[in-house]
Amino acid sequence: ASNIVENVASSTVTSDLSPKPQFAGKANATLVFLARNSDLQGVLRSMESVETHFNHKFGYPWILLNEEEFTEEFQESVKSKTNASVQFGLIPSRHWYQPDWIDEAKAEQGRNALKAWNVIYADSVSYRNMCRFNSGFFFHHPLLQPYRYYWRIEPDVDYFCQLQYDPFDYLKDNNKTYGFTIAIEELEKTVSTLWQAVKEFMEQYPEYIHPNNALAFLSDNGGETYNLCHFWSNFEIADMDFWRGEAYTKFFEFLDLKGGFYYERWGDAPIHSIAAALFLDKNQLHFFNDIGYQHSNIVHCPQQPAFLTGSCTCNRVLSIDYRRYSCLPRYNKMLNRKW
Ligand code: GDP
Ligand code: MN
Repeated sequence: ASNIVENVASSTVTSDLSPKPQFAGKANATLVFLARNSDLQGVLRSMESVETHFNHKFGYPWILLNEEEFTEEFQESVKSKTNASVQFGLIPSRHWYQPDWIDEAKAEQGRNALKAWNVIYADSVSYRNMCRFNSGFFFHHPLLQPYRYYWRIEPDVDYFCQLQYDPFDYLKDNNKTYGFTIAIEELEKTVSTLWQAVKEFMEQYPEYIHPNNALAFLSDNGGETYNLCHFWSNFEIADMDFWRGEAYTKFFEFLDLKGGFYYERWGDAPIHSIAAALFLDKNQLHFFNDIGYQHSNIVHCPQQPAFLTGSCTCNRVLSIDYRRYSCLPRYNKMLNRKW
């Protein structure tokens, strides 16, 4: 039903009568885009980049999510950017807003403390809602239930290389679970007590820790302290069955009860990354080296000459890979890869 556009929020279904395009994408996968109405221009720019470099051939469906209703203008503009199907979903309140059991006085203290340190989004509650939603709930949204694999897109991102293969098929055929392009250090102040909580979890649930895990990516001293390395979650191509599974479900619930999404500013990126690194075989992680990508002022551009035949338009000298704050060296070292 690739031409059916269903607005779950208002329960209206309209069908587009244009001829059904023939798309190559056959994986059980979707492009997931969390956005606000005010993000429209950035959303359109990202969609254009994804369609041009990949999806015009593959035709994977787009799903846009918001805790408020998308406006008509937003929906019409988004639909005009793709021949693939588009669905707009409303996020249930319980998956978004600060829970009642969070101590608001303590949360406010936490916000003020980060503000004093000039941490970005220090006093934003909505940013914290977003991080918690992306950590624990997006994959439970009704619109995502039919799908196993997803590619996360954010406003104002750029893709630089023509992708000649299906990354969802790649994950599936190679038994990979989590794919990234940028690995980088987190702001310490946003996760002050996260590693303490993770260590508690590991002690309580040793059965979830994979014997061939990627702890070496997260810690430079065997797990005593966190080195702040994480995969940037504004780009993710991954398997939602992992997030829906027992280990991650327990992990998220455990961390959620610590309150760190609100008392500190735990990001979905370190939460996802720590889980993927601990509960999976390290060979189930995948560095999509051949996907040139930019978010804000950070870019990953393929380095090896082999990748450049894929016609990337980025400047590889600017690639974050081996610059300050990149965690790619640790990732490669862990896998005994040369770099
Ligand atoms: P950054 O990448 O960490 O600087 O954060 P962004 O501002 O890009 O937000 C991350 C993602 O969440 C983007 O896709 C945003 O559009 C989305 N987002 C952030 N805050 C909100 C919000 O309050 N409501 C909704 N619906 N989406 C949000
Ligand atoms: Mn962003």
